[in-house]
Amino acid sequence: ANNGRPLAMWSCASDKFGTKVLAAGVNEVIFLGRAQRPVYLLIHRDDTEGLTLSLEDASDLLGKTTHEKILQLADRHPDSHVAALGPTGEHWQQNFYAAIACSAVNQLHSRDCKPRFAGRGGMGSIMGSKNLIAIVAQAPDVHRGKLPPALLEANKEISRGPGSRNYRDPDKGNGNGGTWRNVAGLHPIGALPEMNFRPQGNDKPVPLYRKSLESNSHYFIKDESCFKCGISCHKNIYAAEEENGRRKPGKFFTKFDYEPLDLLTINLGIYDQQQALEIVELVDQLGFDSISLGVTLGYIMEYNQRHPQQPIVDGLSFGDFHGACRVIQRTAAGQLPEVGRGVKRLSEQRGETAYAMHCKGLELPAYLPETNPGYPFAIAGGHMSMRTFLLLVFDGKTDMDYWVDAITNPNRGVYYMRDDILGLCKFAGAPDKVIEPVFKEIYGVEITREDLVHATQRTYLRGLLLERQQGTTVDDYVLPARVYERNPNVQLPHFITPEFWHELRQRVLQAFEAQIETYGLREAT
Ligand code: SF4
Repeated sequence: ANNGRPLAMWSCASDKFGTKVLAAGVNEVIFLGRAQRPVYLLIHRDDTEGLTLSLEDASDLLGKTTHEKILQLADRHPDSHVAALGPTGEHWQQNFYAAIACSAVNQLHSRDCKPRFAGRGGMGSIMGSKNLIAIVAQAPDVHRGKLPPALLEANKEISRGPGSRNYRDPDKGNGNGGTWRNVAGLHPIGALPEMNFRPQGNDKPVPLYRKSLESNSHYFIKDESCFKCGISCHKNIYAAEEENGRRKPGKFFTKFDYEPLDLLTINLGIYDQQQALEIVELVDQLGFDSISLGVTLGYIMEYNQRHPQQPIVDGLSFGDFHGACRVIQRTAAGQLPEVGRGVKRLSEQRGETAYAMHCKGLELPAYLPETNPGYPFAIAGGHMSMRTFLLLVFDGKTDMDYWVDAITNPNRGVYYMRDDILGLCKFAGAPDKVIEPVFKEIYGVEITREDLVHATQRTYLRGLLLERQQGTTVDDYVLPARVYERNPNVQLPHFITPEFWHELRQRVLQAFEAQIETYGLREAT
């Protein structure tokens, strides 16, 4: 918040780490205070000793990448899964947006760097502040036998239904190709963040379209998945090899997802395919939130473009791949706190906040803020907890009533948080009608869509109350001031004026206030 206090935040990672924690019989671990030396938590369950929790010496893990730590601990503790920091989280005092990398089944089998990340909001920095370098969950898998019919039905819908279509490949129920498709979808309409969220109106991003890499004979793109997921949204890129006249995947490079890809390459003026693969992988290995890092680097590059005589951070400039990699490595090592503490602090320190792309201190995902006035009202990240980020592209609406409703109607923007409450991947796109019978069969609880809507809305409103409790004022709910300037390269209506914004904010906050009263919620004491 503007007063420097942290706001409510959560962050999730997919694959099997959570399943292993649960298999050990643990629902929740609360860490208080700070260990005196670097440690990792070992959650261990076996048939003779039952459940034990111990803090183990982690000094031999320090300085290693996320992937190295995960493999080392998984080798040391067979049949385990691991959550680990990279060097970034070890230097938590200088880095406020470190991520937590969670091992994936595919990663442990292939020994390729394919972890899943709890990336947003600096959870890795919090973990680092406790001198907690990793968590290992070691327990035999729980075999639950035949799945109940409602769960099988839900899995079928999730794997092949329309809700997850955008994340699947064409050979999996006519999918649309994964989040990467957004580069080719948003670039032609000038809605792709380029050079610090300023679409340039040129063809430079085209080499980073999925079809461009597909047509490059050096690469082999394979869709792979988290543990037991039929959607397979990971678009993993390998060096192409030939065997008996057939192409097959060779050395693994990295995975392309829309946000890291855009924000670490196109948003920094980097368009080379191989460089894109390297920078995305570097950031995964070092354990950053790639969104926060990409946005902060984009700000620095624009600042230096505006101030060629007095540049900051090694004079980093758009398109400087090698310079960016050096800055990333030095930041991870704790040598550049002005980068590692994020774009809000840096822009305030430089006295130029208009083009710092964040809301409430959390760097924006890769959707232009001039297309999404819902950003400031998101509780845990603009593309994770408020589904208003592509509405202008899909609906094209710019009137006040539409946007007030999009943000405050419990069935719309906020309902995106339902999946966080249920523990579902947001890409599953599971309709309520398949979730309700699963609850009945597994927990014996009857829930209706209305129950889910109310539970989600109450959760959101409690988040708002937590923000208020931390001392937010109306001035915390703002967009980067550059949204008021029309970029002629953006081929979407420009509708957020200062007058529009002030009226919208007033009406949205009033609507939420009325909901808080209706539910009888209040700040915790
Ligand atoms: S859709 Fe979700 S659970 Fe499935 S592979 Fe993708 S991130 Fe993992």
